Parts: sequence; structure tokens; C-alpha cells
Amino acid sequence: MIPYGRHSIDADDIAAVVDVLQGDRLTDGPAVARFEAALGAVTGAPHVVACASGTAALHLAVLGLGLGPGDAVVVPSLTFVATANAATYVGATVRFADVDPDTGLMTPETLEQALARPGPGRPRAVFPVHLNGQVCDMAGLTAVAERHGLSVVEDACHALGGAAVLDGASVPVGAATASAAVCFSFHPVKTVAMGEGGAVTTRDGALADRLRRLRTHGISRDPGVFQEHALAFGADGAPTPWYYEMAEPGFNYRASDLHCALGASQLTKLETFLARRRSLAATLGQALAPLAPHVRPIPRGPTDADGWHLFVVLIDFEGLGRSRADVMAALAAAGIGTQVHYIPVHRQPYYRARDPDLHLPGAEAYYARCLSLPLFPAMADGDVDRVAAALREALQ
Ligand SMILES: *Cc1c(COP(=O)(O)O)cnc(C)c1O
Repeated sequence: MIPYGRHSIDADDIAAVVDVLQGDRLTDGPAVARFEAALGAVTGAPHVVACASGTAALHLAVLGLGLGPGDAVVVPSLTFVATANAATYVGATVRFADVDPDTGLMTPETLEQALARPGPGRPRAVFPVHLNGQVCDMAGLTAVAERHGLSVVEDACHALGGAAVLDGASVPVGAATASAAVCFSFHPVKTVAMGEGGAVTTRDGALADRLRRLRTHGISRDPGVFQEHALAFGADGAPTPWYYEMAEPGFNYRASDLHCALGASQLTKLETFLARRRSLAATLGQALAPLAPHVRPIPRGPTDADGWHLFVVLIDFEGLGRSRADVMAALAAAGIGTQVHYIPVHRQPYYRARDPDLHLPGAEAYYARCLSLPLFPAMADGDVDRVAAALREALQ
């Protein structure tokens, strides 16, 4: 079976993890800082906070911005449920934005539409999602966000290694020049694998400090922030050695040294992974060209700026008189794994119950046609032909 996505682990990665296992620190050790520095180097962000997952990263970002009840967060409907749930965790409401029907991305126009729609909560933040590795129009989105006084947090779980064009310059995804924070996932289907893992990048040092505290129960050991002086300091004025303080409750969202060692090792191969993904995507695009117009790869921007997480085709199932379930089953029988990214989140029962009449035609049109085909660095060139041939066969 060729899966739709798969991690690539080699001997270096294994050695890096074994090294941690043979050392003194399985967690709270030096591999965490090493991973954070490596991700900082790749993204250009001055502050990186590693954490347990992409979901934890999103939750930390929402907490870090101080969002809560009475606030609304704009999230595109075409994303993984975790983007919306982050706002829900803190009691904020989710204001779903529609997406472009062909790219699946939130646009400045669909953001404006979501803000113009009446709904509960005062919009305070927007979470653009760089779906499939395509980078959103950050200049356009931040212009709208500024006009409405919204904080911007990028969900870049698909887009490590991608780039945004800002003021004519190419800026790596994660640099956080156009947003308060950027969230990443290192789940094995993503471009870099930690098993489970995530990170928030930011240019705001105070925000990074707060995220670090929230990642470990809200606890601080920094005497400079202690409030309970009688407890914190001894008669000599020095902090007592055991003392720590919790000013607000946080979580255990740490990433262990095992995970961070794997992540740091994987990051050294990011450019190789991306080059392979780009090359496979180009070949796959050519191999599928004869299936137009019923099958079209989603139109994508400059190939260098794309994180190439997923290779998505839009298939006119209706015009072909075929159901997606049948086509997926035929592909699976031919040994080709596929997936649908994503069911629009506003259609999930939890969110449906909160806004039963919401229709987002762009998200629904994208969802009706999308299919993610295999794309991962370890795919062989021959696999591309197998995928294209199986899809041709399956659609006949
Ligand atoms: C994977 C993913 C997440 C969640 O990441 P986890 O590491 O699985 O928690 C959030 N948003 C998007 C767009 C994702 O693809």
C-alpha cells in the first residue's frame, strides 16, 4: 500500500533518539533547547517554544493572547478540527470563514465576509491556515486584521519550509513577521516528524515567556516574577531553593527530549525532504494532466514558496457520475491510499449545533471535490506512475 503520507526516518534519527535514551535527561533536558534553536534557524523566528503537539501549540497561542469568553476567533472552515477547538477550549466562540473553492484557503474577502456576519462574541483574532502547504495571502489578511484590530496566529502545521511574500520579499513561514505567533505540528504525516510534537514561533519575547510558563503548569522559577515574597525569599533575601510560583494555571504541554532529539535530527533534512516533495509534486502534476478537466490539481502559487504537505486534486465526481467513496475504494484495492482533507469544520455536529444555518459555499464546493493523493519523500518515481494509472483506471 502506498499511503497518502508517511514519515522518513533514517539511521541518524534513530541514533539521535538512542543518544537521549542513554543520557541523563529524558525530558526537561538539552535536546529541547537544541530543537528550539534548530527551528528558530529554519524559520528565522527569534523565539521558539516546543510543545507536545500542534493542538497544544494552538491552545497555547490562544491562551497567550488572553482570549476567552466574549471573544470570537475567525477560523477557516477548511482545516483540521484542532484549529477551531483551540478557541473553544478557552470559551471563545469560533466565527467560521469561508474559503476559496479552488485553493481551500481563507482570503482577505472571506475574512471580511466572516467579520461582517452577525454572530456572538467580539472578533479579537484570526487564525489563517496554510492548507496543504500553500501559504495564505498574509499581506492581504493582515491588512484586514489590522483594520479590525485582530491578532493574527498562523496555523502552519502544513507549511513548514514554505514562504510568504511580504513587501516583495520572501519570508519563511514561521518567521512571524506578519503575525503574533505561528503554530507547527510534527505529527508523522507532517513534513518533519517527532512522533507527537509541536511548536509556537514568535517575535514577542514576553509572549514566548508566557507560553513557556503555560507549557509547564503555569509555573515560574524566575525570582523576578515572584509575588509571594515572604514565601519566596529567605531572611538573607535570597530565593529559597525549592520555590516556584504559579500565577495562572497552565498545562503539561512539554515535548520530551526523545521527541525533540528526533525533531532536531529531522530538521537537518528539511531541505532534502522539501526538494523531493516538490519534484514528486511536479511529476505527479504532469502524470495527471491527461485526466483534465475532470481531475485538476489545485492551482498552487510559486512552487518554492509552497510547503507541499499534501498533493490535492479536485475531482468532478458529480460530472463523472462517480462517488468519492467508490473511487477511494478502487484506489485502495489498487494499493493507493488517499484521504479527504477536510470535512468543513462548521459541519461537525458540535459546531453545527451552535450555528445550524451557516452555509459556506466555497468550503463545501472544495470539500465536494478534494482528494489527497500520496506525497511523501520516500515515494519512488515509479509510485507516481502507479498513482496516476490507478486514478485513471478508478475513474473509468
Ligand atoms: C496536524 C494539524 C493540527 C494538529 O496537530 P497535532 O500535532 O496533530 O495536534 C492542527 N492544524 C492543522 C492544519 C493540522 O494539519
